Amino acid sequence: MTSGPEHLERDFPMHVSVSEAREMLAALLPQRQTEMVVAKEALGRTLAADLAALVSHPSATESALDGIACRAADTQSVPSELRVVGESRAGVPFAGEVGTGECVRIYTGAPLPRGADAICPVEKLEEIDSARVRLLSPASTGDVRHEGGDFRAGEVVMQAGTWLSAPRLALATALGHAQLPVYQRLRVALLSTGDEVVEAGQPLQAGQVYDSNSVGLSAMLQEAGCEVLPLGHAPDQPEQLAQILAGAGGADVLLSSGGVSMGKYDFMRDLLLEGGKVSFWKVRMRPGGPAILGGWRGLPVFGLPGNPVSSLVVFHVIVRPALTGQPVQTLKLRAGTPFRSLPDKTAFWRANLVGGVVHDYGQQGSGILRSLSEAGALVVVPEGQRVQVGDDVDVILL
Ligand code: AMP
Ligand code: MG
Repeated sequence: MTSGPEHLERDFPMHVSVSEAREMLAALLPQRQTEMVVAKEALGRTLAADLAALVSHPSATESALDGIACRAADTQSVPSELRVVGESRAGVPFAGEVGTGECVRIYTGAPLPRGADAICPVEKLEEIDSARVRLLSPASTGDVRHEGGDFRAGEVVMQAGTWLSAPRLALATALGHAQLPVYQRLRVALLSTGDEVVEAGQPLQAGQVYDSNSVGLSAMLQEAGCEVLPLGHAPDQPEQLAQILAGAGGADVLLSSGGVSMGKYDFMRDLLLEGGKVSFWKVRMRPGGPAILGGWRGLPVFGLPGNPVSSLVVFHVIVRPALTGQPVQTLKLRAGTPFRSLPDKTAFWRANLVGGVVHDYGQQGSGILRSLSEAGALVVVPEGQRVQVGDDVDVILL
């Protein structure tokens, strides 16, 4: 007769796929209100409405280079000579018009004067005297940036649901938005578990390990635009664990690490299986298989495995996409070494990226912490597949 947690009477699925796990977590998260925040403070947040450009960019037709602005037709025979009649610089346009045989000195971002349609860069100019220049190649209309060539006033440029990376914040600002409509931050309570887990800065006894998960996961949550409510660390003691969970009031979801696999002292698992409500236990992935999703007194709880490698991979492929609504970004790259997976588990191999080719990092044990920062990529091998050298594989950049 078998016993143990795998054989409990249960009304929840076990061994769900990675995408099922992601969808089930997303479904437990609350609908969020929207708010306006200044753009500088919106890093990692998600846009709650489409953003239209309030202005055109460029706001006027301008030069892409430092040089002279003139009429292209005047410069077709090489070399040609033009009379300098003025200057247009960024923020201070030339007020007049450029006539035949004339040019104005112009600088990057400066408005193109009336009459001119082309630019000759400074590298292709010779100064004859202070009022005349010789052009060593024809002026080009291609070095003119046209008004609205990037975006036009009124055009919807960013869509609701966009996750705000640094370049996207810059774009939103260029569109003219000083404040951005975003979803309120998810409030994520974060807890480490384990009698052996010790806060860094303390002396470490043999058999103990520093609490790297609370630091790594907190940083990843902040990157994902969440507000982190640190609950610290719980010992492997069910009553204390329950007490600490009770202190997570106000959180939208609790993320824990450790205590969810098959061991006798894995009390986060027991708490959810026996006293809580479980959505699933175990995901068909490696590393990261023991993850559990459930609820404790109405609070959604996602239990990550304690191994930092496992928790990082689960965070990448399940938690972050569920929290941000952004799909996992993968790209196809060539395999430089073989990769494989078990018949019933998607494998995530830590890999090095060398010249667009991915190579097995080497040690794939989920206790090899240095692999997290040294490997640049995860190679995704779907259940029951073998990848040969030269095959294309899906890769997640870390
Ligand atoms: P567990 O999932 O609780 O069985 O833990 C699996 C492994 O991860 C053990 O070797 C733990 O010592 C280690 N571990 C658990 N929690 C942490 C943590 N917060 N930081 C670093 N390592 C951890
Ligand atoms: Mg543990």
